[in-house]
Amino acid sequence: MIKAIKGTKDLLPSDAPRWHYLESIVKNIFSNFNYKEIRTPVFEVTSLFARSIGEETDIVGKEMYTFEDKSGTNVTLKPEMTAGVVRAFIEHSLGAQQSLNKLFYISPMFRQERPQAGRLRQFHQFGGEAIGSASPLLDGELIQIAYDILKALGLKDLTVKINSLGIPETRESYKNLLREFLKDKKDKLSEDSRKRFDKNILRIFDSKIESDQKLLEGAPTLIQNLDEESKRDFELVKEYLTKVNIPFEVDPKLVRGLDYYTKTTFEIISGSVGAQSALLGGGRYDLLVEKLGGKSTPAVGFAAGMERILLACENERSFPIRENCIDIYIIRLDNNLESEVSDLASKLRRHNLKVEFDYLQRSVKAQMREANRMKAKITLFVGGDEYSEQKINVKDMYSSVEQIIKIKSEENDKIIIKDIRKFLSQVRQQCGWMTTKGKHCKKYAQPGSKYCHWH
Ligand code: AMP
Repeated sequence: MIKAIKGTKDLLPSDAPRWHYLESIVKNIFSNFNYKEIRTPVFEVTSLFARSIGEETDIVGKEMYTFEDKSGTNVTLKPEMTAGVVRAFIEHSLGAQQSLNKLFYISPMFRQERPQAGRLRQFHQFGGEAIGSASPLLDGELIQIAYDILKALGLKDLTVKINSLGIPETRESYKNLLREFLKDKKDKLSEDSRKRFDKNILRIFDSKIESDQKLLEGAPTLIQNLDEESKRDFELVKEYLTKVNIPFEVDPKLVRGLDYYTKTTFEIISGSVGAQSALLGGGRYDLLVEKLGGKSTPAVGFAAGMERILLACENERSFPIRENCIDIYIIRLDNNLESEVSDLASKLRRHNLKVEFDYLQRSVKAQMREANRMKAKITLFVGGDEYSEQKINVKDMYSSVEQIIKIKSEENDKIIIKDIRKFLSQVRQQCGWMTTKGKHCKKYAQPGSKYCHWH
């Protein structure tokens, strides 16, 4: 049997409601802040990622899905979105059309990492990019969007961490300070950190190895050595977060893995997903547009891992999911009425009703079972004496109250639809939201209301 590749995951129909809910919140909150959606191709030329993310990073060094296509072009499946967004921004001169572009995306990403809980090889991110302004208001705005999305999903155990990496000049002089501090300890660092000492010393802070972290104790921090401009901007970001009631911690070790960050960096961590606890991360990248061949343009953005966020939601039981239910199940009482049933279903579906019927020649009893399983609000019975008198029986599945509806009168279909809609508006339906114990609520909502009074 052929199986899915390690580190990839099928999203099955039972997973879809959670994904739809998450996506609807993402789209809604970004749209409140007037961000517009951008979609870029799944693959790009490899040099785009190498140039923007940085040759020395784990992503470019170890994790990219890179291959030569049949024409000999070296291409890579996108490991992150910012590079592609900036490429599109430059290629389509978006900056000439409006000076500030506020963009958001939802997309699969690909990284050849060791699969484990919270780490996949194909995963999904949503994120936002504001390209065209150096205002720290936008740094604050993006942190607020990220935080508000997680809060709207009902997540509680969250920590917002922020830091500033300053402008490149400050960072360079700080790197010398750090090099000086670690010089005598270099031999004791892990092999990875020793490599970073030479190539990208800041990233030693990213090391997960305890002995490395011990050696870093007492090291000078970037945040204590910031230039005036970065210091002022960082104060403004903090002020913004305080005003919108977002609790945060300043974490001087937050350097983030990618090369292109300047000034503000941030992460939101969850206490409910285990070791891979960062739900999202981002920061300012004022130099990237120019580095990729565009006009110098300041920008800021973040990317959030959707699988990890949904895992946190599941662990915290943070949002309820409704069981899928349908409006109408049509039961065929006589086997020879298949096409009449299908006709009626088509009409009702065109009137925006969720309708199902039997395609498998099942008995009336089995059709009733299906109607119950699908949580139909009402059933229509097509056949028998009533049908020969051009009527059908309509049944409320909660109260078992029945009513006869005329179907082939002089009037047109609109009357039938109106009668069925009226009947539907009077029925109760099972609430279906998750209870705190993780079970589907079996209580019934009042007619006209979607949920029981608990939900
Ligand atoms: P990054 O682009 O590395 O800053 O990652 C941003 C977010 O994407 C992380 O905080 C994770 O939530 C998510 N993420 C990154 N890599 C993976 C992966 N391999 N599998 C699942 N989620 C990931």
